[in-house]
Amino acid sequence: MSLIVFTDLDGTLLDHATYSHAAAAPALDALKRHDIPLILATSKTAAEVADLHADLDLSTPAIVENGAGLYRPGDTDGEAGDYTRLRAALADLRPGPAEAFLGFGDIGPEGVARATGLSPGAAMRAAARRFSEPGLWQGDTAGLGAFVAALDTRGITARQGGRFLTLSFGATKAARMARIMAELGRDTAIALGDAPNDAEMLEAADHGVIIRNDHGAPVPALPGESLGRIHRTTLPGPAGWNEAILGLLTERGYQ
Ligand SMILES: [Mg+2]
Repeated sequence: MSLIVFTDLDGTLLDHATYSHAAAAPALDALKRHDIPLILATSKTAAEVADLHADLDLSTPAIVENGAGLYRPGDTDGEAGDYTRLRAALADLRPGPAEAFLGFGDIGPEGVARATGLSPGAAMRAAARRFSEPGLWQGDTAGLGAFVAALDTRGITARQGGRFLTLSFGATKAARMARIMAELGRDTAIALGDAPNDAEMLEAADHGVIIRNDHGAPVPALPGESLGRIHRTTLPGPAGWNEAILGLLTERGYQ
């Protein structure tokens, strides 16, 4: 058995309020000691995740933009053509079905700051898209249906998140997991997440951990829970993360 760990960030490895991962330090150290790769899997962009990735001293790829792409430290090229193709498709659909969609590329970093409350620097990093385009739908439901159908003919998927409708070429966090496991030669995945959009990743893992988060929408009951493959922590954020990882390592005979 060779383990690998996939983790969501906000509310999971990072504290909901402070964004600190300090409470997970013992488990992070244990993963390093046992050479178990840690893969960050997030809705954030490569620009947003780079500092944390360096801070955690990781050399692994990270799953960014909700699975739409990978961040590899030092690689500035990758699949960056995706974003150009998404913007070209939107331009094609204007005038037309895309008119009521206001993407990050339309509103720019200043608009992203206004829409999210992020600081100018943070908004700049959030707007540095390479693989997916979040935006606000400002039309009616019928118009949205027509927009989604028009995107579908171009191979583009639209996913509604808490606030933004995000367009991508359909890759998910779960789909990325299998490829990274093959690349790193790992056969047993642990995944940790705190929100409904982590469900696919939790179900795709050999062992899923739902981190308690009292601040957001709860993860619905997942089939893996009744099968014993998924469990929920009692502690929130990095403290729950720490407890879960140390427990799973002990169960598997790691000291
Ligand atoms: Mg989260």
